[in-house]
Amino acid sequence: MPVTSAYLNRVFADVEKRNHGEKEFLQAVKEVFESLDLIIEKRPDLVKAGIIDRLVEPERSISFRVPWVDDQGILRVNRGYRIQFNSAIGPYKGGLRFHPSVNTSIIKFLGFEQIFKNSLTSLPIGGAKGGADFDPKGKSDGEVMRFCQSFMTELHRHIDADTDVPAGDIGVGVREIGFLFGQYKRITNRFAGILTGKGLSYGGSLVRTEATGYGLCYFTEEMLNQRGKSFKDTPVLISGSGNVAIFAAEKAIEMGARVIALSDSNGFIHAPGGINLDLVKEIKLVKRGRLAEYADVERSATYHEGRGIWKLQCGIALPCATQNELDEEDAAALIKNGCFAVAEGANMPSVPGAVERFLKAGILFGPAKAANAGGVATSALEMSQNSIRLSWTFIEVDQRLQEIMRNIFKNIHDASAAYGAPGNLVAGANIAGFLKVADAMLAYGVV
Ligand code: NDP
Repeated sequence: MPVTSAYLNRVFADVEKRNHGEKEFLQAVKEVFESLDLIIEKRPDLVKAGIIDRLVEPERSISFRVPWVDDQGILRVNRGYRIQFNSAIGPYKGGLRFHPSVNTSIIKFLGFEQIFKNSLTSLPIGGAKGGADFDPKGKSDGEVMRFCQSFMTELHRHIDADTDVPAGDIGVGVREIGFLFGQYKRITNRFAGILTGKGLSYGGSLVRTEATGYGLCYFTEEMLNQRGKSFKDTPVLISGSGNVAIFAAEKAIEMGARVIALSDSNGFIHAPGGINLDLVKEIKLVKRGRLAEYADVERSATYHEGRGIWKLQCGIALPCATQNELDEEDAAALIKNGCFAVAEGANMPSVPGAVERFLKAGILFGPAKAANAGGVATSALEMSQNSIRLSWTFIEVDQRLQEIMRNIFKNIHDASAAYGAPGNLVAGANIAGFLKVADAMLAYGVV
């Protein structure tokens, strides 16, 4: 959708010039501007104060060398990042991604999105993201440990419980968080809540591991209820087979769905009768293996090389792998094959043309900023527990998560109606997330 506001078009031209070639970051900014187009004329105070000019520029960008030695004694060098995007409503918060594709554009797009997502949770957290172009796949535990220790040796000077609290993301799970936290504690001689996603024995929160996937299903159920639908007896496709995908599958199955496919970066499994999640967990979480092994054990399922998961028939699709994994052709196939709801577990998994198709076809569409906010919300609950030095029960945290996801749905649904785009949850999420941050920035004057 073209943006009509002259102010937004001028800011976007500046962003393009200053961040030349940063494809993912520009895509994320453009999507938000399309929504802000609906409100900007009504808020001349925000234009006068240059709120959006400031919002698109990170408060601080750090990039650093990460040297480490592999098992053969060879020196390796990776590049680490922490982009502290916006702290208007709380300490910076957002995950660390370890994946060979990591670059400035990807970390900036994730950090920018995080500002709005964190605002939607209604908790006091600002937006940030970080990571490195390191690939944990195929590395020994010793190599991953040495990398994490080197990464934290630099990162520790930029984070603190009241400044910036990173978490996990792609390639960073409880093993990596353990190595990172151990090194922080050793260097600083402080036991502080400077990371979330920690193990339960050293300050982690119950439900944090499951939170993004469970939260996605709580959000989706709210969205479905609006149309008198539910997960019950519905075939569901879920891409990815990592943290978000596995726990989305677990909750969807608990809610009565039939999860018929999962994928990884090599291919996907199709199990028309429903997947055996225990087997998937054993392969991916315990053995750190490939999904292809699933069909060797479960003979009723088939394994297919490549990306083709979205061509299968389903009622609900939950993309939970990575950015831009669902293109226009995939969207057309989903619509044709009877899919009535899509909710994003990954960050920006649908290309803009796919989102447009879903909205035009009247498919229920839950954007990532809202639908996958359960992970960061539970991270903020971990921060609260660390501050008061107490731990809440599984049920207590899960109930808070459910309430947060229900509120996010209600707030963005109401915002979509209030600002002239009823039912368009993309616009609702961008506008509701933005306004809270913008009002805080306005209160601070020029900072
Ligand atoms: P994991 O590393 O646990 O799992 C990622 C999964 O996606 C793996 O199955 C991986 O396959 C697959 N994948 C990664 N890159 C690609 C690719 N280029 N093409 C196809 N498949 C790919 O990560 P998470 O589950 O934590 O994260 C998944 C998504 O959810 C990301 O977009 C992340 O930013 C987002 N997210 C995560 C949150 C969290 O709490 N963890 C919170 C909010 C959002 P393989 O095994 O082959 O690598």
